[in-house]
Amino acid sequence: MLKRIWNWIFRFLFGTGSEHPAAPDPSIRPIPAPAGSSKTVVPILVLPQVPDDFQLDTKQEQGGDRYYTSSPWQPDMDALNAAIITAESWLESVVGTKIPWEPIRQVQSERTVAEWREGGVYLVQAEVERLLLRWSDDYVYLAFVRGLGGYAGGIGFEPGNAGFAVVGDVCIEAVCGYPEPTSGSTVLGGGPWPASAWSLAGQTGALVHEVLHGFGLPHPDGWPEGRQPSNERTIMNDWWTFPNYVQSDGLTNIELDALREAIGPYAVRN
Ligand SMILES: [Zn+2]
Repeated sequence: MLKRIWNWIFRFLFGTGSEHPAAPDPSIRPIPAPAGSSKTVVPILVLPQVPDDFQLDTKQEQGGDRYYTSSPWQPDMDALNAAIITAESWLESVVGTKIPWEPIRQVQSERTVAEWREGGVYLVQAEVERLLLRWSDDYVYLAFVRGLGGYAGGIGFEPGNAGFAVVGDVCIEAVCGYPEPTSGSTVLGGGPWPASAWSLAGQTGALVHEVLHGFGLPHPDGWPEGRQPSNERTIMNDWWTFPNYVQSDGLTNIELDALREAIGPYAVRN
């Protein structure tokens, strides 16, 4: 299911997501960190086709969503790779096992920016195949997609099928250190976001959050009643406080178990 950043924030502010009590860590069966990871994270930079009259620094609307790209279309690859290394190191320290992240690859999409805004995360597989990479459950793909504004989402792997995730301009621009756009409130969906949502750290948290959806982790309310992690203890809710979490390394035990299971010898593989 597509998940849009603005939908989350509304849910956090007005829905049940913000009402979890600060419960004890709900793990019932901590499992050890596996010796190695059966899965690798593969980041790609997707540059969609743009119409001849496409303008940066212009607010655009499509399907009720608003987009604004304020920095060079071709982002700073060194900065993206630096964030990838930060993400890899942080996850290793939390999980106790290194999950390898490959350096970013770039692909010139055959799809237009309008098609990407329509199709979102489900267009990732075609780009992966265009790069001649393998679509299997050995991989979680993370696509940085130009032109997608504040859009982000992630879909968990299944036996035989890769996990996959997308982040848009908000993530790319913050991670690359480009100045926050003057239309920042537009970019961020108009919601009262925490100040840290636009920052290198906050958006590194966002991309790790999406990748962890690719490993199958849900938001706190995706766990059974009574076993739900409290929001401030997990990157699966409070991604914008990365890398610091209340009484937690950023993943609670129930999430750590699921992630270790996903990367361990227990994982279902073809
Ligand atoms: Zn999410």
